[in-house]
Amino acid sequence: FPATLTALLAQRVADSGDAEFLRFEDRSWSFREIDVWTSQLAHRLIRVEGIEPGDRVAVMLPNVVQWPVFWLAALKAGAVVVPINSAYQRADLEFVLTDSGARVVVTDGDHLALVRDVLDGNAVLAGVRVVDVAEDGAESFPATAPDVEAAPDTLANLQYTSGTTGFPKACMLTHGYWVRNGWLCAAAAGLHTEDVLLTAQPFSYMDPLWNVAAALTVGAPLVVLPRFSASGFFADVRRHRVTFFYVLGSMPTLLFKQPPDPRDRDNDLRLVWCSGIPAALHADLEARWGAPWRELYGMTESGFDLVSSLDDTATVGTGSVGTPVPTKQVRVVDADGVEVPDGEPGELTVRGLPMMLGYWNRPEETARVLRDGWLHTGDVVVRGPEGGIRIVGRIKDMVRRGGENVASVEVEAAIERDPAVVGAAVVPEPDEILGEEVKVFIQLADGVPADRETAETIIERAGGQLARFKVPRYVEFVDEFPRTPSERVSKPTLKERAAASPG
Ligand code: ATP
Ligand code: MG
Repeated sequence: FPATLTALLAQRVADSGDAEFLRFEDRSWSFREIDVWTSQLAHRLIRVEGIEPGDRVAVMLPNVVQWPVFWLAALKAGAVVVPINSAYQRADLEFVLTDSGARVVVTDGDHLALVRDVLDGNAVLAGVRVVDVAEDGAESFPATAPDVEAAPDTLANLQYTSGTTGFPKACMLTHGYWVRNGWLCAAAAGLHTEDVLLTAQPFSYMDPLWNVAAALTVGAPLVVLPRFSASGFFADVRRHRVTFFYVLGSMPTLLFKQPPDPRDRDNDLRLVWCSGIPAALHADLEARWGAPWRELYGMTESGFDLVSSLDDTATVGTGSVGTPVPTKQVRVVDADGVEVPDGEPGELTVRGLPMMLGYWNRPEETARVLRDGWLHTGDVVVRGPEGGIRIVGRIKDMVRRGGENVASVEVEAAIERDPAVVGAAVVPEPDEILGEEVKVFIQLADGVPADRETAETIIERAGGQLARFKVPRYVEFVDEFPRTPSERVSKPTLKERAAASPG
């Protein structure tokens, strides 16, 4: 089996070159067309931009077909791709370009001015070259790939984590990492050439890229949506006859909050994957769209770790995120690294492939999380008797109230069940007596008054599902949550806010 992404693409062209590979808006490209285009662009990167093996190529683009195209082209040139969130503003962009040591930035007209501005104002970045995708000039270059060696351990991406718990750090991800994720996805989801994949997340997250790897693995097409829109999503699923997609975070909830449509079950879906479906919503999602929804657990650091299989009917809807993928081992450990019995909370650690090589330029951070091959995920989990693993919270996302540890996610889930609530985010509020108190920021549904009575009703309803010490003492309504560039709620920002304005 091909062990690098470039070899995988070559094999797909040899096996089924004319089959459809990528679909974007009203156009589609075969494996062979993408192969030619990416080879031409690889030559351009080498000859015009001076790219040498190991050089970093940053990609700052919205979701357009050029995103995966420049990814594969840069890999063919031996470069390492640095995905940059297209919503980044000056400071984040400057940080990532500097931290990664980018030589080239691939971008488009909407971001050119920002990119140029950052480069011009920074002596270290002054020599970085800019490629505008509108002028890729591909046709004038050879259609066969440049002669560049790659191995499974060759670096492919410097992939910044979401920055949910702190400053983003870049995971060093290899060709082997992507090929294995593609293979694991294809195997666990049972994908074949008749499937149609779809991705709506920004390409700077890692999941569209493993979708590309999965499409390459099985020779199936991938539909790329310009953006996620809850109201238009299922129209695209129907129109493209999509059979499989993955959504994360709040997307399932946002989809479910759309008004029901008589065509909801009129689709070709075989399977939906997601991360963090509210357990209470699981059966409703399945009933509404008539397809199984299954959990996937993974991290930027390690790709796929746990998955809930299609025939796992015992633990779905219980909050379990699944069992280890065939290439991973799992241990649930206490603070000393000793395994805890099933049913007791501990930190999830995983070993096996895929796995990052480490954090870019952060050897101490790497040594802290990767010990003897075991990745310490920072997630607190409980393993049930049937082996299914349930996420209880994050080590860094707990409230220490007196002697008790309160996992934010549990409280958030209880509050989010309330129809008046669109989203909840729990953080510690400093407290003289208990050390920390539980504070919740709430985004209300349209039309619900943000007053004391609403707050009391929500807390009372949630209180019925929570141990007393977990019930929030403080409530604050927000119009919108502060978010990390990857759209997750930014807990550091909320913690600062809670500390600054007690009560
Ligand atoms: P940072 O490490 O910078 O704080 P992050 O951990 O949010 O950011 P990612 O690598 O994108 O960045 O996310 C991995 C995390 O997502 C996991 O550690 C876990 O907390 C959460 N996660 C992944 N899968 C699931 C799931 N199925 N259910 C709930 N949470 C999940
Ligand atoms: Mg993380």
